[in-house]
Amino acid sequence: MRMSYLECTRCGERLSADAPRNVCPKDGGVLFARYDLASLRGKLRGEDLRGRVASMWRYAEVLPEAEPVTLGEGFTPMLASREFENVFIKDEGLNPTGSFKARGMSAALTMARQYGLKKLAAPSAGNAGGALAAYAAAAGLEAYIFMPQDVPRANRMECDYFGAHVTLADGLISDCGRMVAERKDSEGWFDVSTLKEPFRVEGKKTMGYEVAEQLGWKVPDAIVYPTGGGVGMIGMWKAFEEMEELGWIGERGGASGTKRPKMITVQAAGCAPIVKAWEAGKSASEMWTRASTFAAGLRVPKAYGDYLILDILKKSGGAAVAATDEEILAATRHWASVEGVFAAPEGAASLVAYQKLRASGFLRAEDTVVLFNTGSAYKYLDMMEAEERKAEVNVPAARSIGGIIGPY
Ligand SMILES: [Zn+2]
Repeated sequence: MRMSYLECTRCGERLSADAPRNVCPKDGGVLFARYDLASLRGKLRGEDLRGRVASMWRYAEVLPEAEPVTLGEGFTPMLASREFENVFIKDEGLNPTGSFKARGMSAALTMARQYGLKKLAAPSAGNAGGALAAYAAAAGLEAYIFMPQDVPRANRMECDYFGAHVTLADGLISDCGRMVAERKDSEGWFDVSTLKEPFRVEGKKTMGYEVAEQLGWKVPDAIVYPTGGGVGMIGMWKAFEEMEELGWIGERGGASGTKRPKMITVQAAGCAPIVKAWEAGKSASEMWTRASTFAAGLRVPKAYGDYLILDILKKSGGAAVAATDEEILAATRHWASVEGVFAAPEGAASLVAYQKLRASGFLRAEDTVVLFNTGSAYKYLDMMEAEERKAEVNVPAARSIGGIIGPY
């Protein structure tokens, strides 16, 4: 068995991975899968992966050992920016179901099927629901998904087509999470909520492995990551730790001189609990009230793993930046027209953060920076159109000349 045990990220308690588990029974801490990496060190090198399957399952040795439920997720393009030297766009919009959520659900459903689970439930801000529904269909399992009623239309439709049971709630993802928690025991559902089962983070961590592999087993100076639930950031940080143990990247401050990247969170100004906690120097966030942004994936008023995210920002010497919806919309259009990348609003927020941190001097032109586009804009067409209309109402003078309305 490649996986040795599950470990609580709060108290360090070790639990067997032989049965399905959610969080630490003692303190509710997030559980991490741990592997016997020491036995792999020196035997498996990064170069040995050459020629393997072009999906996240190329990193099999550091993933749970089971027949994968796969739709070809991961190993997405790392595009050199046309606009900024030393900047790369990691385009997660090319995953199955059009977002990085595919990685986590591929790993979670692989283990759910292995454990013999039949019914899975999760709250979602949109794309996680779509991915859960798709992978449940591929695994032959049942999915129960709770989403806010104003999620992008694509998320509602894909869940329906994938055959999931969908409940649209009047509220936010936090309200949806409560509905799952209240009903799961009586309904016999296994909860696959963000960070409440240990394998979604295992899938997401492969983004960290890919960043290193696609940059020639070097880590960048900084990674900008749009943060809703924050699993991508938590997973990548875990990947860097594992790669150091494997000897694939230099140890922090070690002889080779490489170190882990500065991890940078970007959130929407209308829902920025991590940014607020970071600026106040706190180790946990508070529930954000009246969360509002058209970047649906960033509408997470309190992340379950907030303590992990804030710890990563601190340890990596990172930063947390907020972007307004106006800035995000403009960045979406700019990226599309300059880079040819039609990014999800959450992804375009990475560009806003990069521009702000360059302007402030936190990032320099010579820094190698990876900006994550977490999803495809094709899933947000209705939200983006509504946002465009709002922008036109707000600034009529800029869009109207001589009674003719147009993009002047
Ligand atoms: Zn614990």
